[in-house]
Amino acid sequence: MKKLDPDGEIAMQTEYLNAAEDDGAVARAAQLLREGKLVAIPTETVYGLAADALNGPAVARIFEAKGRPQDNPLIVHIAREADWTPLVKEIPEAAHRLAERFWPGPLTIILEKSGLIPDEVSAGLSTVAVRCPSHPAAQAVIRAAGRPLAAPSANLSGKPSPTTAERVLEDMDGKIEAVLDGGPCAVGVESTVLSLAGAVPRLLRPGGVTAEQLREVLGTVELDAAVTDKLAPGAAAASPGMKYKHYSPRARVIMIKGPAGPFADYVNAHKGPGVAALCFEEDKAGLSVPYLSYGARADASAQAHALFEVLRALDDAGFSLVYAHSPEPSGVGLAVYNRLIRAAGFEVLTLA
Ligand code: AMP
Ligand code: MG
Repeated sequence: MKKLDPDGEIAMQTEYLNAAEDDGAVARAAQLLREGKLVAIPTETVYGLAADALNGPAVARIFEAKGRPQDNPLIVHIAREADWTPLVKEIPEAAHRLAERFWPGPLTIILEKSGLIPDEVSAGLSTVAVRCPSHPAAQAVIRAAGRPLAAPSANLSGKPSPTTAERVLEDMDGKIEAVLDGGPCAVGVESTVLSLAGAVPRLLRPGGVTAEQLREVLGTVELDAAVTDKLAPGAAAASPGMKYKHYSPRARVIMIKGPAGPFADYVNAHKGPGVAALCFEEDKAGLSVPYLSYGARADASAQAHALFEVLRALDDAGFSLVYAHSPEPSGVGLAVYNRLIRAAGFEVLTLA
């Protein structure tokens, strides 16, 4: 991705590394990370924008590249549970049980941080969020770098998260040193974020590991109000990321709750230039406006896998108003619901 700046010098360019086709790709990504550079890496959830988590200035560049608000902390990625110990004050027994059951995988656990974690990572909080991803290329690059990697999603702040290397470059080309292509992400929405830093385990962000699965291991898990509802103005967010505009395409998105028939009737009655539907497979036959489906109504995993790509594709097609059929907010569907309602800026319509 070569680019010339106006003076004719070669400006910073993003190096494209393909994990499947190039044997040296992972080693190159790891080398750049050790040098304090930024590399987007594939994970099973979404692509992450990684830096050496123990290098404060390198981590600060993540915020710059994304345009991320300074008070929104990052998740630290490790390759094995043993690497957790030096990053936190103490690992309670419940945390070990969770790691045993869900790591490597899409679960992030928040605990009190140790002195090793730079303030840039925790954004001034006393806690740190840690996850062990399962994607083989993520595992390989963390191991080769030989240090934990701080990585938020590799999108410009506020945009839908990228689930392919192409979508990473759309937002980040020229802003980061490299992208490691590991194919499309399997889960498609960001990790489940669980805080074990308080008296009761608290779900701050739903994801591929469901609240139901967490309760099987922990018994009680509280659902933070910000998971499904808009924070009241001025209210403190348990997870700072929850208070920002998020996952938003350029188009205005309106989320519609209700059965297939009323959904199609409503959308068809509001057709016009720039209007499209984000729908389920079952809705397609009834719609007389352009649409993109994000999966079967009962298949929340398919919806999670497709959601961000479909939101970006609707922008590519130039739509300005998207009526989105709401997923069921349970199981993995709660994660899809949480992202879509934010993409809609909490604009929701309920049809009988
Ligand atoms: P991202 O990886 O960009 O999707 O963002 C990570 C999410 O985890 C954001 O919503 C953060 O606010 C949240 N997060 C990270 N670290 C912490 C922490 N120590 N306490 C609470 N939330 C956190
Ligand atoms: Mg993000």
